[in-house]
Amino acid sequence: MPLRAELYCYFCGHGCGDVLVPTRGRKPTSEQMRAAYSTVPEPIAPVWDDAGQPNCPRCGGQLFLERYGHEVVRRPERLPRAS
Ligand SMILES: [Zn+2]
Repeated sequence: MPLRAELYCYFCGHGCGDVLVPTRGRKPTSEQMRAAYSTVPEPIAPVWDDAGQPNCPRCGGQLFLERYGHEVVRRPERLPRAS
């Protein structure tokens, strides 16, 4: 089940855009993130260093992974029943 995630820079506030990562684990690997970001255009996508870690394309800072959870069909919120 794909995981929706975004790499985000806390230093300059740059968001690399959210991607769907096909992963079974709770946390995608950097290889999976890299593959997911391969479709994101260059000025927005993270810059990968030699160690395979993502860095901010704007300030070079460390990126943090924001997770939005697994893609699920959102159920409409149930209205409280009048008693
Ligand atoms: Zn940055």
